[in-house]
Amino acid sequence: EAARALIRDHERRNQPEIVEFEAQQVLKAYGLPTPQTVLARSSDEAVAAAEEIGYPVVLKIASPDISHKSDVGGVKVNLGNATEVMKTFKEITARAQRLRRDAYIAGCLVQEMAPPGVREVIIGFKRDEQFGPMLMFGLGGIYVEIMKDIAFKLAPLSKQDAFEIVREIKSYMLLKGLKGEQPVNFTALEEIVMVMSRLALDLPQVVEAEFNPVLVNHERAIVADVRMTLR
Ligand code: ADP
Ligand code: MG
Repeated sequence: EAARALIRDHERRNQPEIVEFEAQQVLKAYGLPTPQTVLARSSDEAVAAAEEIGYPVVLKIASPDISHKSDVGGVKVNLGNATEVMKTFKEITARAQRLRRDAYIAGCLVQEMAPPGVREVIIGFKRDEQFGPMLMFGLGGIYVEIMKDIAFKLAPLSKQDAFEIVREIKSYMLLKGLKGEQPVNFTALEEIVMVMSRLALDLPQVVEAEFNPVLVNHERAIVADVRMTLR
């Protein structure tokens, strides 16, 4: 229901892109594991949120008009204290406003930082006119573009499909763990894949959705960014 309300609101405003800070409610509604996240409207609010979450934190630009946050220098990770958070909030919001004059800047998301050593994967779907939603699973971060290492399956996915899709990529070994490393939590990834499949069926207005990155280690997988595009 949270998802439908958000979509109606975007359709009314003729705003096809749903960005991370707007989609937080949708993630919650679907029970997806997310890093603790607070929207801060001022640098003081950002510091208060960081103290609450605990350092280190990540700051991300929160604007309905900016869906690729890094393009405007809008993501800073590993902020370790109040002074850094204060300064970074001001830098991020000022730079975003300078680069995107017409953008409405709501503030910044203050987010719990994933532990070191996590792998980044991407889970998404694209709706095909003919075949319907096509689920994708791949290695995330800088590797997606270079390696084009992505597996596809048509929704709805069965549990077996989810089991397979996370093991079909060429970089499977990176997830399974190189010598002496523990494998990532594949079950947690499969669960997120299944939710994405359900989301694709529940929300026909969404033509494209992407969790990028999902951060995974041997313990758990969390959705650290999301964007959706309406038709
Ligand atoms: P963009 O809109 O540019 O895709 P993201 O939210 O995906 O912004 O952040 C960019 C990158 O920052 C991610 O790919 C990931 O490497 C890192 N990152 C984002 N959120 C976190 C987090 N909570 N913990 C650790 N790293 C993160
Ligand atoms: Mg991202």
